[in-house]
Amino acid sequence: MSLINLKLSNEEIINSNFLDLCCDKYTEPLIRGGQSNADLALHNLDISNYAKLRNNVYPKSKRGSSYLSAYIRHGLIDLKEVWKYVEKFKYEDKTKYRDELLWQEFSRHLYAIVGKKSQNYLNYSINSINSKNTNTEKMNCINTVKKELEETGYMVNQTRMWFASHFSIRDGGDWNNYENYMFKHLVDGSRFANRLGWHWVMGSQTGKVYGFSKFQVQKRAKKLCDECDLNFNCPINDWPESIEITKKNIDVVTDVYKNFGPQEIKTNNKNPDFVWITAESLGDDDPSMKYFSNLPVVFIFDKKLLNSLKISTKRINFLLDCLKEISLKRDLTVVIDDPLIYLKNKLFASTFAPVPKYKKITKINKPLYEFPAQRLVQPIEFYPNSFSSWKKRIKLTI
Ligand SMILES: Cc1cc2nc3c(=O)[nH]c(=O)nc-3n(C[C@H](O)[C@H](O)[C@H](O)COP(=O)(O)OP(=O)(O)OC[C@H]3O[C@@H](n4cnc5c(N)ncnc54)[C@H](O)[C@@H]3O)c2cc1C
Repeated sequence: MSLINLKLSNEEIINSNFLDLCCDKYTEPLIRGGQSNADLALHNLDISNYAKLRNNVYPKSKRGSSYLSAYIRHGLIDLKEVWKYVEKFKYEDKTKYRDELLWQEFSRHLYAIVGKKSQNYLNYSINSINSKNTNTEKMNCINTVKKELEETGYMVNQTRMWFASHFSIRDGGDWNNYENYMFKHLVDGSRFANRLGWHWVMGSQTGKVYGFSKFQVQKRAKKLCDECDLNFNCPINDWPESIEITKKNIDVVTDVYKNFGPQEIKTNNKNPDFVWITAESLGDDDPSMKYFSNLPVVFIFDKKLLNSLKISTKRINFLLDCLKEISLKRDLTVVIDDPLIYLKNKLFASTFAPVPKYKKITKINKPLYEFPAQRLVQPIEFYPNSFSSWKKRIKLTI
Protein backbone atom coordinates (compact mmCIF):
# COMPACT_ATOMS: atom_id res chain seq x y z
CA MET A 1 0.00 0.00 0.00
CA SER A 2 1.29 3.51 -0.82
CA LEU A 3 0.01 6.51 1.07
CA ILE A 4 -0.35 9.63 -1.08
CA ASN A 5 0.91 12.88 0.40
CA LEU A 6 -1.56 15.45 -0.90
CA LYS A 7 0.67 18.30 0.24
CA LEU A 8 2.98 17.59 -2.71
CA SER A 9 2.30 19.03 -6.15
CA ASN A 10 0.30 16.90 -8.59
CA GLU A 11 3.42 16.56 -10.71
CA GLU A 12 5.47 15.20 -7.79
CA ILE A 13 2.69 12.82 -6.78
CA ILE A 14 2.18 11.54 -10.31
CA ASN A 15 5.86 11.22 -11.14
CA SER A 16 6.62 9.26 -8.00
CA ASN A 17 3.50 7.06 -7.83
CA PHE A 18 1.60 6.83 -11.09
CA LEU A 19 3.90 6.83 -14.10
CA ASP A 20 4.01 3.00 -14.28
CA LEU A 21 0.23 2.94 -13.99
CA CYS A 22 -0.48 5.47 -16.74
CA CYS A 23 -0.19 5.60 -20.53
CA ASP A 24 1.50 9.00 -20.79
CA LYS A 25 3.93 11.40 -19.14
CA TYR A 26 2.65 14.09 -16.77
CA THR A 27 -0.03 16.10 -18.62
CA GLU A 28 -2.51 18.59 -17.23
CA PRO A 29 -6.10 18.44 -18.44
CA LEU A 30 -8.02 21.37 -19.85
CA ILE A 31 -10.70 20.93 -17.19
CA ARG A 32 -9.35 21.12 -13.66
CA GLY A 33 -10.90 19.06 -10.89
CA GLY A 34 -12.29 20.18 -7.54
CA GLN A 35 -15.66 21.24 -6.18
CA SER A 36 -14.93 24.97 -6.44
CA ASN A 37 -14.02 24.65 -10.13
CA ALA A 38 -17.20 22.63 -10.68
CA ASP A 39 -19.29 25.24 -8.84
CA LEU A 40 -17.74 28.03 -10.86
CA ALA A 41 -18.37 26.19 -14.13
CA LEU A 42 -22.02 25.72 -13.22
CA HIS A 43 -22.32 29.33 -12.07
CA ASN A 44 -20.93 30.50 -15.44
CA LEU A 45 -22.99 28.06 -17.51
CA ASP A 46 -24.57 29.81 -20.47
CA ILE A 47 -26.49 27.60 -22.86
CA SER A 48 -27.85 30.42 -25.06
CA ASN A 49 -28.03 29.02 -28.62
CA TYR A 50 -27.00 25.55 -27.42
CA ALA A 51 -29.48 23.91 -29.79
CA LYS A 52 -27.84 25.60 -32.79
CA LEU A 53 -24.20 25.51 -31.69
CA ARG A 54 -23.89 22.14 -29.97
CA ASN A 55 -22.46 20.34 -32.99
CA ASN A 56 -19.86 22.96 -33.93
CA VAL A 57 -16.29 21.71 -33.84
CA TYR A 58 -13.77 24.29 -35.13
CA PRO A 59 -13.08 27.08 -34.56
CA LYS A 60 -13.33 26.34 -30.86
CA SER A 61 -14.76 29.83 -30.22
CA LYS A 62 -17.93 28.80 -32.11
CA ARG A 63 -18.61 25.73 -29.96
CA GLY A 64 -21.81 25.54 -27.95
CA SER A 65 -20.71 22.72 -25.62
CA SER A 66 -20.79 23.42 -21.90
CA TYR A 67 -17.62 21.50 -20.88
CA LEU A 68 -19.34 20.24 -17.72
CA SER A 69 -18.97 16.54 -18.44
CA ALA A 70 -15.98 15.76 -16.19
CA TYR A 71 -17.78 17.31 -13.21
CA ILE A 72 -21.00 15.47 -13.98
CA ARG A 73 -19.22 12.18 -14.52
CA HIS A 74 -17.44 12.36 -11.15
CA GLY A 75 -20.46 13.51 -9.17
CA LEU A 76 -19.22 17.06 -8.48
CA ILE A 77 -22.27 18.38 -10.26
CA ASP A 78 -25.45 16.42 -9.90
CA LEU A 79 -27.64 16.01 -13.01
CA LYS A 80 -30.62 17.34 -11.06
CA GLU A 81 -28.71 20.49 -10.18
CA VAL A 82 -27.88 21.25 -13.85
CA TRP A 83 -31.43 20.39 -14.88
CA LYS A 84 -32.77 23.04 -12.51
CA TYR A 85 -30.05 25.55 -13.33
CA VAL A 86 -30.97 25.71 -17.05
CA GLU A 87 -34.62 26.54 -16.32
CA LYS A 88 -33.96 30.23 -17.06
CA PHE A 89 -32.83 29.66 -20.68
CA LYS A 90 -34.91 29.69 -23.85
CA TYR A 91 -37.21 26.72 -24.42
CA GLU A 92 -35.38 25.22 -27.40
CA ASP A 93 -31.95 25.45 -25.74
CA LYS A 94 -33.05 24.17 -22.38
CA THR A 95 -35.01 21.30 -23.95
CA LYS A 96 -32.06 20.22 -26.06
CA TYR A 97 -29.66 20.52 -23.14
CA ARG A 98 -31.93 18.58 -20.80
CA ASP A 99 -32.23 15.88 -23.42
CA GLU A 100 -28.46 15.47 -23.30
CA LEU A 101 -28.59 15.23 -19.51
CA LEU A 102 -31.11 12.47 -20.01
CA TRP A 103 -28.70 10.69 -22.39
CA GLN A 104 -26.19 10.75 -19.56
CA GLU A 105 -28.69 9.22 -17.17
CA PHE A 106 -29.77 6.72 -19.83
CA SER A 107 -26.16 5.61 -20.21
CA ARG A 108 -25.97 5.04 -16.44
CA HIS A 109 -29.20 3.05 -16.43
CA LEU A 110 -28.10 0.92 -19.34
CA TYR A 111 -24.71 0.24 -17.80
CA ALA A 112 -26.25 -0.55 -14.41
CA ILE A 113 -28.17 -3.33 -16.15
CA VAL A 114 -25.73 -4.49 -18.82
CA GLY A 115 -22.41 -3.92 -17.00
CA LYS A 116 -19.41 -5.64 -18.55
CA LYS A 117 -21.57 -7.16 -21.27
CA SER A 118 -21.41 -3.74 -22.91
CA GLN A 119 -18.02 -4.85 -24.26
CA ASN A 120 -20.07 -6.81 -26.78
CA TYR A 121 -22.64 -5.63 -29.29
CA LEU A 122 -25.97 -4.84 -27.62
CA ASN A 123 -29.16 -5.28 -29.68
CA TYR A 124 -27.59 -5.69 -33.13
CA SER A 125 -24.43 -7.39 -34.39
CA ILE A 126 -22.46 -5.39 -36.89
CA ASN A 127 -20.83 -7.45 -39.64
CA SER A 128 -18.73 -6.96 -42.76
CA ILE A 129 -16.75 -3.91 -41.85
CA ASN A 130 -15.35 -4.15 -45.32
CA SER A 131 -13.80 -0.89 -46.38
CA LYS A 132 -10.41 -0.54 -44.79
CA ASN A 133 -8.93 2.90 -45.06
CA THR A 134 -5.17 2.88 -45.29
CA ASN A 135 -4.62 6.61 -45.18
CA THR A 136 -5.88 7.39 -41.68
CA GLU A 137 -2.52 8.65 -40.48
CA LYS A 138 -2.60 11.43 -43.11
CA MET A 139 -6.14 12.59 -42.36
CA ASN A 140 -6.06 16.05 -40.82
CA CYS A 141 -9.52 15.65 -39.23
CA ILE A 142 -8.67 12.45 -37.34
CA ASN A 143 -5.18 13.67 -36.40
CA THR A 144 -6.50 16.98 -35.07
CA VAL A 145 -9.17 15.27 -33.00
CA LYS A 146 -6.62 12.82 -31.53
CA LYS A 147 -4.22 15.63 -30.74
CA GLU A 148 -6.90 17.59 -28.92
CA LEU A 149 -7.88 14.51 -26.93
CA GLU A 150 -4.31 13.65 -25.93
CA GLU A 151 -3.40 17.25 -25.09
CA THR A 152 -6.56 18.27 -23.22
CA GLY A 153 -8.57 15.18 -22.23
CA TYR A 154 -11.67 16.62 -23.91
CA MET A 155 -13.55 16.14 -27.18
CA VAL A 156 -16.90 17.59 -28.25
CA ASN A 157 -19.68 15.12 -28.92
CA GLN A 158 -19.43 15.56 -32.69
CA THR A 159 -15.75 14.57 -32.88
CA ARG A 160 -16.35 11.64 -30.54
CA MET A 161 -18.84 10.41 -33.14
CA TRP A 162 -16.38 10.92 -36.00
CA PHE A 163 -13.65 9.07 -34.16
CA ALA A 164 -15.88 6.17 -33.12
CA SER A 165 -17.43 5.84 -36.56
CA HIS A 166 -14.10 5.96 -38.35
CA PHE A 167 -12.43 3.31 -36.19
CA SER A 168 -15.37 0.96 -35.83
CA ILE A 169 -16.96 1.09 -39.25
CA ARG A 170 -14.43 2.28 -41.78
CA ASP A 171 -10.92 1.64 -40.55
CA GLY A 172 -11.98 -1.55 -38.76
CA GLY A 173 -10.15 -3.64 -36.19
CA ASP A 174 -11.39 -4.35 -32.71
CA TRP A 175 -13.57 -1.38 -31.69
CA ASN A 176 -12.90 -2.14 -28.01
CA ASN A 177 -9.26 -1.06 -28.46
CA TYR A 178 -10.27 2.33 -29.78
CA GLU A 179 -13.00 2.73 -27.17
CA ASN A 180 -10.34 2.01 -24.53
CA TYR A 181 -8.06 4.61 -26.06
CA MET A 182 -10.76 7.27 -25.73
CA PHE A 183 -11.68 6.10 -22.23
CA LYS A 184 -8.05 6.44 -21.10
CA HIS A 185 -7.66 10.01 -22.27
CA LEU A 186 -11.09 11.56 -21.70
CA VAL A 187 -11.22 13.29 -18.34
CA ASP A 188 -14.96 12.54 -18.35
CA GLY A 189 -14.24 8.98 -19.54
CA SER A 190 -16.81 6.53 -18.19
CA ARG A 191 -17.70 3.07 -19.36
CA PHE A 192 -21.37 3.98 -19.30
CA ALA A 193 -21.32 7.03 -21.58
CA ASN A 194 -18.30 6.05 -23.66
CA ARG A 195 -19.56 2.58 -24.50
CA LEU A 196 -23.07 3.83 -25.16
CA GLY A 197 -21.59 6.45 -27.52
CA TRP A 198 -19.72 3.72 -29.41
CA HIS A 199 -22.76 1.44 -29.57
CA TRP A 200 -24.93 4.26 -30.80
CA VAL A 201 -22.44 5.18 -33.54
CA MET A 202 -21.86 1.58 -34.67
CA GLY A 203 -25.58 0.90 -34.76
CA SER A 204 -25.35 -1.94 -32.27
CA GLN A 205 -27.88 -0.22 -30.01
CA THR A 206 -30.38 1.14 -32.54
CA GLY A 207 -29.70 -0.85 -35.71
CA LYS A 208 -28.82 2.41 -37.49
CA VAL A 209 -25.23 3.28 -38.28
CA TYR A 210 -23.77 6.78 -37.94
CA GLY A 211 -21.55 7.07 -41.00
CA PHE A 212 -18.68 9.54 -40.93
CA SER A 213 -17.59 11.19 -44.18
CA LYS A 214 -16.04 14.39 -45.52
CA PHE A 215 -19.51 15.96 -45.46
CA GLN A 216 -19.51 16.39 -41.66
CA VAL A 217 -15.99 17.84 -41.59
CA GLN A 218 -16.87 20.34 -44.32
CA LYS A 219 -19.94 21.38 -42.39
CA ARG A 220 -18.50 21.54 -38.86
CA ALA A 221 -14.79 22.23 -39.30
CA LYS A 222 -14.07 23.23 -42.89
CA LYS A 223 -10.58 24.45 -42.05
CA LEU A 224 -9.52 20.87 -41.35
CA CYS A 225 -10.28 19.92 -44.97
CA ASP A 226 -8.75 23.09 -46.37
CA GLU A 227 -5.49 22.32 -44.59
CA CYS A 228 -5.48 18.58 -45.29
CA ASP A 229 -3.00 16.98 -47.74
CA LEU A 230 -5.79 14.64 -48.76
CA ASN A 231 -8.34 17.36 -49.48
CA PHE A 232 -8.59 16.43 -53.17
CA ASN A 233 -8.03 12.74 -52.61
CA CYS A 234 -10.15 12.31 -49.51
CA PRO A 235 -10.43 8.68 -48.35
CA ILE A 236 -13.77 9.45 -46.66
CA ASN A 237 -15.35 11.32 -49.56
CA ASP A 238 -18.27 8.88 -49.69
CA TRP A 239 -20.36 7.21 -47.02
CA PRO A 240 -18.91 3.99 -45.62
CA GLU A 241 -19.74 0.90 -47.67
CA SER A 242 -22.72 -1.22 -46.75
CA ILE A 243 -22.71 -2.91 -43.40
CA GLU A 244 -24.66 -5.99 -42.37
CA ILE A 245 -26.70 -5.55 -39.25
CA THR A 246 -28.30 -8.54 -37.56
CA LYS A 247 -30.72 -8.39 -34.65
CA LYS A 248 -29.47 -10.18 -31.55
CA ASN A 249 -30.71 -10.86 -28.05
CA ILE A 250 -28.98 -9.73 -24.93
CA ASP A 251 -29.32 -11.71 -21.74
CA VAL A 252 -29.70 -9.42 -18.72
CA VAL A 253 -31.23 -9.44 -15.27
CA THR A 254 -33.59 -6.57 -14.42
CA ASP A 255 -33.49 -6.88 -10.64
CA VAL A 256 -33.70 -3.28 -9.39
CA TYR A 257 -31.77 -3.78 -6.16
CA LYS A 258 -28.98 -5.74 -7.82
CA ASN A 259 -28.59 -3.21 -10.62
CA PHE A 260 -29.33 0.08 -8.90
CA GLY A 261 -28.55 -0.58 -5.23
CA PRO A 262 -30.56 0.60 -2.24
CA GLN A 263 -33.36 3.14 -2.71
CA GLU A 264 -33.22 4.11 0.99
CA ILE A 265 -30.23 4.48 3.29
CA LYS A 266 -29.09 1.03 4.40
CA THR A 267 -28.43 1.49 8.12
CA ASN A 268 -26.88 -0.50 10.93
CA ASN A 269 -26.84 -0.30 14.70
CA LYS A 270 -23.04 -0.15 14.70
CA ASN A 271 -21.24 3.03 13.69
CA PRO A 272 -18.76 3.15 10.81
CA ASP A 273 -15.16 4.27 11.36
CA PHE A 274 -14.84 6.10 8.05
CA VAL A 275 -16.51 6.98 4.76
CA TRP A 276 -15.15 5.31 1.62
CA ILE A 277 -15.59 7.52 -1.45
CA THR A 278 -15.21 6.46 -5.08
CA ALA A 279 -14.45 8.31 -8.32
CA GLU A 280 -18.17 8.15 -9.14
CA SER A 281 -19.06 10.52 -6.31
CA LEU A 282 -16.41 13.07 -5.38
CA GLY A 283 -18.62 16.07 -4.70
CA ASP A 284 -19.36 17.82 -1.41
CA ASP A 285 -22.90 16.51 -1.75
CA ASP A 286 -21.86 12.87 -1.77
CA PRO A 287 -24.61 11.40 0.46
CA SER A 288 -22.34 9.29 2.68
CA MET A 289 -19.80 12.10 3.24
CA LYS A 290 -22.59 14.54 3.96
CA TYR A 291 -24.39 12.26 6.41
CA PHE A 292 -21.23 11.36 8.34
CA SER A 293 -19.84 14.86 8.27
CA ASN A 294 -17.41 14.25 11.15
CA LEU A 295 -15.95 10.94 10.06
CA PRO A 296 -12.61 10.55 8.30
CA VAL A 297 -12.78 9.86 4.57
CA VAL A 298 -10.79 7.34 2.50
CA PHE A 299 -10.13 7.23 -1.24
CA ILE A 300 -8.40 4.20 -2.76
CA PHE A 301 -6.65 4.32 -6.14
CA ASP A 302 -7.12 0.72 -7.25
CA LYS A 303 -3.63 -0.38 -8.23
CA LYS A 304 -4.62 -3.51 -10.16
CA LEU A 305 -7.31 -1.67 -12.06
CA LEU A 306 -5.04 1.25 -12.91
CA ASN A 307 -2.36 -1.15 -14.02
CA SER A 308 -4.71 -2.84 -16.44
CA LEU A 309 -6.43 0.34 -17.69
CA LYS A 310 -3.36 2.55 -17.97
CA ILE A 311 -5.40 5.76 -17.99
CA SER A 312 -3.83 9.13 -18.76
CA THR A 313 -2.12 11.30 -16.15
CA LYS A 314 -4.70 13.94 -17.14
CA ARG A 315 -7.33 11.87 -15.38
CA ILE A 316 -5.15 11.31 -12.30
CA ASN A 317 -4.53 15.06 -12.23
CA PHE A 318 -8.26 15.74 -12.23
CA LEU A 319 -8.85 13.25 -9.41
CA LEU A 320 -5.98 14.69 -7.34
CA ASP A 321 -7.44 18.19 -7.68
CA CYS A 322 -10.75 16.87 -6.36
CA LEU A 323 -9.10 15.00 -3.51
CA LYS A 324 -6.91 17.94 -2.51
CA GLU A 325 -9.98 20.11 -2.15
CA ILE A 326 -11.76 17.49 -0.05
CA SER A 327 -8.69 17.30 2.16
CA LEU A 328 -9.08 20.99 3.00
CA LYS A 329 -12.47 20.23 4.52
CA ARG A 330 -12.15 16.68 5.78
CA ASP A 331 -9.67 14.27 7.34
CA LEU A 332 -8.86 12.46 4.09
CA THR A 333 -6.57 9.47 3.52
CA VAL A 334 -5.60 8.63 -0.06
CA VAL A 335 -3.87 5.33 -0.81
CA ILE A 336 -2.87 3.21 -3.78
CA ASP A 337 -3.96 -0.29 -2.90
CA ASP A 338 -6.36 -3.13 -3.64
CA PRO A 339 -9.77 -1.95 -2.32
CA LEU A 340 -10.78 -5.57 -1.72
CA ILE A 341 -7.90 -5.90 0.75
CA TYR A 342 -7.99 -2.38 2.20
CA LEU A 343 -11.68 -2.58 3.09
CA LYS A 344 -11.51 -6.11 4.48
CA ASN A 345 -13.08 -6.32 7.97
CA LYS A 346 -13.38 -2.54 8.16
CA LEU A 347 -16.44 -0.63 9.32
CA PHE A 348 -17.22 1.90 6.63
CA ALA A 349 -20.04 3.81 4.97
CA SER A 350 -20.32 4.42 1.22
CA THR A 351 -22.57 5.68 -1.55
CA PHE A 352 -23.72 3.02 -4.00
CA ALA A 353 -22.20 3.28 -7.49
CA PRO A 354 -24.03 1.38 -10.24
CA VAL A 355 -20.82 0.07 -11.81
CA PRO A 356 -19.44 -3.50 -11.75
CA LYS A 357 -16.31 -2.71 -9.73
CA TYR A 358 -18.24 -1.15 -6.85
CA LYS A 359 -20.68 -4.07 -6.85
CA LYS A 360 -17.81 -6.57 -6.75
CA ILE A 361 -16.02 -4.82 -3.88
CA THR A 362 -19.13 -4.40 -1.73
CA LYS A 363 -20.32 -7.94 -2.34
CA ILE A 364 -17.24 -9.06 -0.44
CA ASN A 365 -16.80 -6.08 1.91
CA LYS A 366 -20.24 -4.96 2.93
CA PRO A 367 -20.62 -1.30 3.95
CA LEU A 368 -22.26 -0.77 7.36
CA TYR A 369 -24.18 2.14 5.92
CA GLU A 370 -24.92 2.41 2.23
CA PHE A 371 -26.53 5.43 0.57
CA PRO A 372 -28.50 5.46 -2.68
CA ALA A 373 -26.68 6.85 -5.72
CA GLN A 374 -27.73 10.38 -6.74
CA ARG A 375 -29.96 10.26 -9.79
CA LEU A 376 -32.13 12.25 -12.13
CA VAL A 377 -34.38 9.34 -13.05
CA GLN A 378 -35.78 6.63 -10.83
CA PRO A 379 -34.31 3.14 -11.28
CA ILE A 380 -36.04 0.96 -13.87
CA GLU A 381 -37.18 -2.64 -13.87
CA PHE A 382 -36.90 -3.24 -17.60
CA TYR A 383 -34.14 -3.51 -20.19
CA PRO A 384 -34.12 -0.23 -22.16
CA ASN A 385 -33.95 -1.14 -25.83
CA SER A 386 -33.60 2.44 -26.97
CA PHE A 387 -33.33 5.96 -25.58
CA SER A 388 -36.76 6.91 -26.93
CA SER A 389 -38.55 3.88 -25.47
CA TRP A 390 -36.75 4.44 -22.15
CA LYS A 391 -37.74 8.12 -22.12
CA LYS A 392 -41.42 7.25 -22.51
CA ARG A 393 -41.41 5.05 -19.41
CA ILE A 394 -39.22 6.88 -16.91
CA LYS A 395 -40.03 8.99 -13.86
CA LEU A 396 -37.83 11.96 -13.03
CA THR A 397 -36.77 12.36 -9.41
CA ILE A 398 -37.52 16.12 -9.49
C1 LIG B 1 -18.31 7.82 -28.99
C2 LIG B 1 -18.75 8.66 -27.81
C3 LIG B 1 -18.10 8.53 -26.59
C4 LIG B 1 -18.52 9.28 -25.48
N1 LIG B 1 -17.87 9.12 -24.28
C5 LIG B 1 -18.31 9.80 -23.19
C6 LIG B 1 -17.69 9.60 -21.92
O1 LIG B 1 -16.78 8.78 -21.75
N2 LIG B 1 -18.16 10.33 -20.86
C7 LIG B 1 -19.18 11.24 -21.00
O2 LIG B 1 -19.57 11.88 -20.00
N3 LIG B 1 -19.79 11.42 -22.18
C8 LIG B 1 -19.38 10.73 -23.28
N4 LIG B 1 -20.01 10.93 -24.49
C9 LIG B 1 -21.16 11.83 -24.55
C10 LIG B 1 -20.85 13.28 -24.94
O3 LIG B 1 -20.08 13.31 -26.11
C11 LIG B 1 -20.12 14.02 -23.85
O4 LIG B 1 -20.83 13.91 -22.62
C12 LIG B 1 -20.03 15.52 -24.18
O5 LIG B 1 -19.39 15.70 -25.41
C13 LIG B 1 -19.25 16.21 -23.06
O6 LIG B 1 -19.01 17.55 -23.34
P1 LIG B 1 -19.90 18.72 -22.72
O7 LIG B 1 -20.03 18.58 -21.26
O8 LIG B 1 -19.30 19.98 -23.25
O9 LIG B 1 -21.29 18.40 -23.41
P2 LIG B 1 -22.63 19.25 -23.57
O10 LIG B 1 -23.02 19.16 -25.00
O11 LIG B 1 -22.51 20.58 -23.00
O12 LIG B 1 -23.69 18.36 -22.76
C14 LIG B 1 -24.04 18.59 -21.41
C15 LIG B 1 -23.96 17.31 -20.63
O13 LIG B 1 -24.89 16.36 -21.13
C16 LIG B 1 -24.33 15.05 -21.10
N5 LIG B 1 -24.24 14.55 -22.48
C17 LIG B 1 -24.17 15.28 -23.61
N6 LIG B 1 -24.21 14.48 -24.69
C18 LIG B 1 -24.27 13.22 -24.23
C19 LIG B 1 -24.34 11.94 -24.84
N7 LIG B 1 -24.37 11.80 -26.16
N8 LIG B 1 -24.37 10.84 -24.05
C20 LIG B 1 -24.34 10.96 -22.71
N9 LIG B 1 -24.31 12.14 -22.07
C21 LIG B 1 -24.28 13.27 -22.81
C22 LIG B 1 -22.96 15.19 -20.46
O14 LIG B 1 -23.06 14.92 -19.10
C23 LIG B 1 -22.61 16.63 -20.73
O15 LIG B 1 -21.71 17.16 -19.81
C24 LIG B 1 -19.60 10.18 -25.62
C25 LIG B 1 -20.25 10.31 -26.86
C26 LIG B 1 -19.83 9.57 -27.94
C27 LIG B 1 -20.53 9.74 -29.26
